[in-house]
Amino acid sequence: MFCPECGSTDKKMIGNICIDCFLNDFQMIEIPENIEVTICKHCNSKLEEGKWSESNLPEDEIVYRALERNIKINPKVENEIIDLEIEQIKGSTYTCTVNVIGEVYDSEIEETHDVNVKINRTSCPTCSKIQSGYYESVIQFRADKREIHQEEYKKADEIVEKTLNNQYKKDKLAYCPQIAKLKEGRDYYIGSLKSGRKVANALKEKFGGIIKESPRLISEDKSTGKGLYRIWISVRIPEFEVGDFIKYQDKILQIEDIGKNRVIGRDIETNKRHTIPWKDTEDLDVIRKSKDIEKTEVISKTPNTIQILDPTDYSVVDLELKEDSNINIGDSVDIIKINDYYYLLN
Ligand SMILES: [Zn+2]
Ligand SMILES: [Zn+2]
Repeated sequence: MFCPECGSTDKKMIGNICIDCFLNDFQMIEIPENIEVTICKHCNSKLEEGKWSESNLPEDEIVYRALERNIKINPKVENEIIDLEIEQIKGSTYTCTVNVIGEVYDSEIEETHDVNVKINRTSCPTCSKIQSGYYESVIQFRADKREIHQEEYKKADEIVEKTLNNQYKKDKLAYCPQIAKLKEGRDYYIGSLKSGRKVANALKEKFGGIIKESPRLISEDKSTGKGLYRIWISVRIPEFEVGDFIKYQDKILQIEDIGKNRVIGRDIETNKRHTIPWKDTEDLDVIRKSKDIEKTEVISKTPNTIQILDPTDYSVVDLELKEDSNINIGDSVDIIKINDYYYLLN
């Protein structure tokens, strides 16, 4: 066959020209000379086709993937090996080469393309929100009928921080842009409602108490009528603390444990334990705090009673002994005075 381009007659023909003339004009791959990639300068998320997606990739890996994505291989190419190389970085522009070795009609050929990948750095919508101090929920940490102690504040701060750290992998808005320290408690501002609820539950798990949510309308989209709500989550921890004395169904209980679903108290007369679900704790009255417990010494003993000195007026007081008690003369015992009557504690 005769090639009309080079005049040769002894070469393999591709269509109506010879293989050499065909390969002269053949390109194995197509790739644009300039590629732009938009990433978030704060979290490295990547903008692709109008959508932001998380990519915890280092920047050079983002460049390589941008190159790969933009390569179009001609279907006539076989056994191709593509080599990507970053040659130079100038500012935010990566100068790269794309080298291809492949086979076309059984001839091995090689070609090289120079490509510039420009990285545009901006803020993704999530990071923009964080930058502006955006928040969806406010946790109001309060105690019922008492002040919150410093140790409780310290513990609460720790719980908030720990919960948000755990949440951050799943929720970029798991952050606390502001803590308001008020006389009556603390307000924790939380980026997302989802993480706000997690924090509230973690606080309840530690301190017990009651959670209530109240949404407030912040603004309204005039065109759709849809409201933007911010949720206030009140976490009200109980007035009573471990060691305090409460009145429950005509019994006096000393609180032994406070959990997320219930409170456990021990009857100071019968020694019996009672489990009280949180929903029944709202009207519980604290009758004595643990700091009201007094210490005194046993001065004499009969089989069923001991005698102690009243710590206030030093008069002798008889107390009934519980069956399994092994209290002896000279022992120091804990007592609590309730309604002018002393109870012996274990
Ligand atoms: Zn030819
Ligand atoms: Zn971001």
